[in-house]
Amino acid sequence: MSTPMTPVGHSLMGLAIGWVVVPAEFSQRAKIVTLAAFVALANAPDWPLPGWGHDRYDVSHSIFLTLGMIAVVAAIATAALRRTRYFAWRLIVGGAIAWLSHLLLDTLYFGRRGLAMFWPVSEARVSLPLPWFTVMQLKPLVSAHNARVFAIEAAFYGAILALVVIARWLWTRSARATSCESAD
Ligand SMILES: [Zn+2]
Repeated sequence: MSTPMTPVGHSLMGLAIGWVVVPAEFSQRAKIVTLAAFVALANAPDWPLPGWGHDRYDVSHSIFLTLGMIAVVAAIATAALRRTRYFAWRLIVGGAIAWLSHLLLDTLYFGRRGLAMFWPVSEARVSLPLPWFTVMQLKPLVSAHNARVFAIEAAFYGAILALVVIARWLWTRSARATSCESAD
């Protein structure tokens, strides 16, 4: 039995998306909570809950169920955050993208089998395999193979995160420079 992707790649992707949307004016603590929430959302379909995650792959990775649950969670989060000073639409949209990114990323891993993501409508599978990704083995969990899988994921998604961090830093810097110029 194999599982398509370790939490490493999903978590780094969640961090990258969170990094793009987290408002600059948030306190350090609010930023950390936001990024943690994005990591959780990017891993949502794999949460080890009964009847969810790898227990019921078809359910937890169904595009229809995912869209429905995103709508519900987004409505709850919007209502809750609007009562605070932490509401921003980019957080809601970014959170939805983080959750959806999970399904896309999983399709990169299943090789020819593909991810069955149309439950309960169809058993069609989507596969967009990237040649350098291979799947993690559950047995044995500690192996040279898995170490390699982790390392490749960490390098690939770590690079995406690094690019996002650098891009946002440059963007913030140039925005600050422009606002200083116009203030002069
Ligand atoms: Zn998954």
